Amino acid sequence: MAAESKQVAVIGLGRFGMALCHELNQHGAEVLAIDINEDLVRKAADHVTQAIVADCSVEDTVSELKLDDYDIAMVAIGDNVNASILTTLILKESGVKQVWVKAKDRYHAKILHKIGADRVVMPETEMGQRIARIMLDTRIFHYLELGSGLAIAEVVVLTTMMGNPLSAHPCCQGQHTHLLALKRGPELRPHPDKDTRMEIGDILIIAGPESELSVLLKRI
Ligand code: ADP
Repeated sequence: MAAESKQVAVIGLGRFGMALCHELNQHGAEVLAIDINEDLVRKAADHVTQAIVADCSVEDTVSELKLDDYDIAMVAIGDNVNASILTTLILKESGVKQVWVKAKDRYHAKILHKIGADRVVMPETEMGQRIARIMLDTRIFHYLELGSGLAIAEVVVLTTMMGNPLSAHPCCQGQHTHLLALKRGPELRPHPDKDTRMEIGDILIIAGPESELSVLLKRI
């Protein structure tokens, strides 16, 4: 992951914000963790570059923090919708490059889009949708929505396809979908030759419009 040089500010250290801090830190990003709750800031301090107690819904505080130097600021304030909206507005006005915000529900999300949030995430909803897809179809190993109607799917090759060339697999027959890679054991083969014969345990990584992917996935 190319997170080494990224500078990310995470505002709100609930379960989501804290998990985000840990993961970003593990992948080499420079992380500034902020919360109004001193205990949570102390808890985050060992896992981030810097941890600060601050109220980001106050304009002067945000300008002192110089968050416009950061690549992304994530507003991970959960239940307090007022604080989330105010913080988002202040961050946008202070010139932060990318403001990502966690939304509680679709009304909250709608307001956030209107006031210029660069990306709105609804972790519970998105995770529920993803888990349901995996639960209902064991042939789909992972499914990741990329936004703008695009997605990536990891598809397990069925035994009935063994020995056939990749070109015979329904997932390789889409008009706008692309076979990004073939995963064979620990090996990843990018853009594999369509004549490659499929083997037991092969996984295809395909990307494209969700509308076409859902049709192709029904044919496997
Ligand atoms: P989760 O659902 O991910 O656990 P929570 O709603 O529990 O999220 O956590 C949100 C966090 O955001 C809390 O720790 C809270 O103290 C923090 N928070 C709320 N308002 C502000 C603010 N104005 N500035 C900074 N942090 C805030």
